Amino acid sequence: MNPKTTGQIHSFETFGAVDGPGVRFVVFFQGCPLRCLYCHNPDSWNTNIGRVITAEELVKEILKYRSFISKGGVTLSGGEPFLQSEFAEAVITLCKQNKLHTAIDTSGYIPLSVCKGAVDAADMLLLDIKAIDTHMAKKLTGAGIENAIKLLNYCESINKRVWIRHVLLPGWTLDKEQAHSMGVFLKDYKCVEKVELLPFHKFGEYKWESLNLEYSLGNVEPPEPEQVEEIRQILIGYGLNA
Ligand code: SF4
Repeated sequence: MNPKTTGQIHSFETFGAVDGPGVRFVVFFQGCPLRCLYCHNPDSWNTNIGRVITAEELVKEILKYRSFISKGGVTLSGGEPFLQSEFAEAVITLCKQNKLHTAIDTSGYIPLSVCKGAVDAADMLLLDIKAIDTHMAKKLTGAGIENAIKLLNYCESINKRVWIRHVLLPGWTLDKEQAHSMGVFLKDYKCVEKVELLPFHKFGEYKWESLNLEYSLGNVEPPEPEQVEEIRQILIGYGLNA
């Protein structure tokens, strides 16, 4: 691990409350190989922009907030953190040396052979399962979920804590049958502590417009709370903590 390893970050949030346990410092990495139709950070896609920073400098910034995040920790998000796996590993390792809890939020798209060091170093992963049907995932994001499953299997083999995250998108993943498939698939993983269902929202639509990108979900309305609850109950029925 080289503390001088540089990376490109999009931004950071100092009091994140939705990306892992407790109050967290969330670092949004610049660059993502996927193109999720509902992405609320399309400005994080481009790998040629972003603030260049060393792992050491970033952790120095994080440590300014140490007292606020001592019961939470640090989450690397994006973009896709594993697109810059060495940098992610260096940041995580320095955070760990400073006794901060660490999590990585990933789509699982980057092959394990590339991201293993960072996975091993982190305390936990927030792993997005974009759609339980890999063909649907491909239409929705540009890639199937094969690598995400390999990553999940690896986490199971090394007892790495995982929270699964899953966006419920009407007309796509907001579907009872798919929820059953997901329940059947996830129920035996001991590493999966929690399944977080994220109702689709359109908060990022304006960013698509400002980047001159066509947002295809303009006519899709967010799911009703009862619909989300119905999916949650299906997953709970499989013994999952949803
Ligand atoms: S993986 Fe995340 S950052 Fe990348 S396109 Fe999908 S939602 Fe956006």
